[in-house]
Amino acid sequence: MKRCLIIGGSDAGISAALRARELDREVELTLVVADRYPNFSICGIPYFLSGEVASADDLAHRKAADIEAQGIRLLPKHHATRIDPDGRRVEVRRPGGESETLPYDKLLLGTGAVSIRPPLPGIDLPGVFPLRWMGDTLALEDFLVSLPIGSLDRLKLQQKLDDIGRATFSEKDAGAPAS
Ligand SMILES: Cc1cc2nc3c(=O)[nH]c(=O)nc-3n(C[C@H](O)[C@H](O)[C@H](O)COP(=O)(O)OP(=O)(O)OC[C@H]3O[C@@H](n4cnc5c(N)ncnc54)[C@H](O)[C@@H]3O)c2cc1C
Repeated sequence: MKRCLIIGGSDAGISAALRARELDREVELTLVVADRYPNFSICGIPYFLSGEVASADDLAHRKAADIEAQGIRLLPKHHATRIDPDGRRVEVRRPGGESETLPYDKLLLGTGAVSIRPPLPGIDLPGVFPLRWMGDTLALEDFLVSLPIGSLDRLKLQQKLDDIGRATFSEKDAGAPAS
């Protein structure tokens, strides 16, 4: 049986895995995901912060169980650290920090891109958050919740975030997130 290893569990990685399953019921599929949010809608993050999407869990297009039900072995919080194309294997760091080697016949990379962190004064101060991954989003949400402000100010802040979300994403679609 062929082993297909996919690194990345967002739009690219998941659609590749599901398509591979569609094409071949037998292929052994393993999905390595660095974070613990496979198949979450990154595009929906502004809508979560604005309160239009009530819970971060609602950003999941599919739950882990749904992915596994497709016969896909899901390895969240596993970080690919090295590819050995000659030996056809990938080294991953498990959640506990130990290494594991995963063999493959086919390897697919769906690792997205990393945002730059501009060298601006103050960028490392508390309260400055990048908005790229689910982890960033939840950290920002925790920060907002912890702010010592009244409910009226919180409402205004939420409105502001809503405006930002709409300003950025309304050109194409003024309604629901694109993915
Ligand atoms: C806030 C925000 C809003 C957006 N809104 C829109 C929108 O409205 N419409 C639109 O079209 N696009 C939007 N985008 C862009 C869209 O989210 C991306 O184009 C899309 O997520 C790219 O998908 P991807 O699968 O290629 O990569 P990513 O979503 O970047 O996912 C990369 C995956 O690879 C994993 N990974 C990376 N490195 C490793 C490693 N070494 N080991 C294991 N796993 C690894 C990550 O954990 C993740 O699962 C938005 C982006 C952001 C940040």
